[in-house]
Amino acid sequence: MMELTGKRVVITGASSGIGRATALEMARRGAHVVLAARRLALLDEVAAACRALGTQASAIAADVTRREDCVRLIAAAGDVDVLVNNAGFGIFGPIAAANPDDLQAMMETNYFGMVNCTQAVLPGMLARRSGTIVNVSSIAGIMGYAGMGGYCASKFATIGFTEALRDEVLSQGVRVALVCPGTTETEFFHTAERTSMPGASRLIPGIPPERVARAICDAAEDGRYRRILPLFAAIYMRIKEAFPQLAHLLMRRASSLMERR
Ligand code: NDP
Repeated sequence: MMELTGKRVVITGASSGIGRATALEMARRGAHVVLAARRLALLDEVAAACRALGTQASAIAADVTRREDCVRLIAAAGDVDVLVNNAGFGIFGPIAAANPDDLQAMMETNYFGMVNCTQAVLPGMLARRSGTIVNVSSIAGIMGYAGMGGYCASKFATIGFTEALRDEVLSQGVRVALVCPGTTETEFFHTAERTSMPGASRLIPGIPPERVARAICDAAEDGRYRRILPLFAAIYMRIKEAFPQLAHLLMRRASSLMERR
């Protein structure tokens, strides 16, 4: 268990939603936060709200798809204790009609953005033999959902990378953890089209970003490998992993019932 008080925490995608809520929760737990995203004005507001909670906070404009931005971000942050790779977005729709540029863009941000920041922070963490990386994937990184193929691919890739990295660095003092939220009520749905999601997946109400933020901060503290939330999603993902065909059959059946209504 690691106390977050006084720890230096970098959070990508901190200008809104889960990243913003994570910044505030980290600040409440006494961490010094370095916030990154492209919209600097919003980041500045989040940093001010963190400082009002009595901690140090700074905002750095960075596009995680640009390797040089990630290197600059980590260099400016100093000795990073915790990196939260959270920046991401989704564009939903059937694969047959998907714009290849959208599919590539999701991979660039959701997967390579995480890779870029991880590679920038790792040498320092390995040299210090300490540090925690928390990657935000999704339940869409554990189960493929119709209408969300490109997004699922980027989140599955994140999980494969995270699993491998954890086994590579755990014995060298660096912890790697994964948080997989279900639907969360954020700006994410300004670009991700809810009606493209399978009907059954829309049955479960979205959770507030603050709940995901607590799971991310808990992961930074205890380094536990994987958290899936909410509980129903955690149970369904266990079923998917044990009986994948059954989970997909149930999803298709329930979705077609919902969509016929
Ligand atoms: P939001 O749209 O509210 O936040 C996304 C954040 O990512 C913003 O701060 C945005 O900032 C940042 N971002 C996007 N692209 C880039 C980029 N190229 N470089 C730097 N920052 C970037 O969505 P959420 O808070 O919901 O999403 C956060 C994470 O949670 C994502 O990885 C998402 O896939 C994941 N997730 C979301 C779920 C949901 O239902 N909402 C469910 C499961 C996982 P800016 O535009 O200023 O750059």
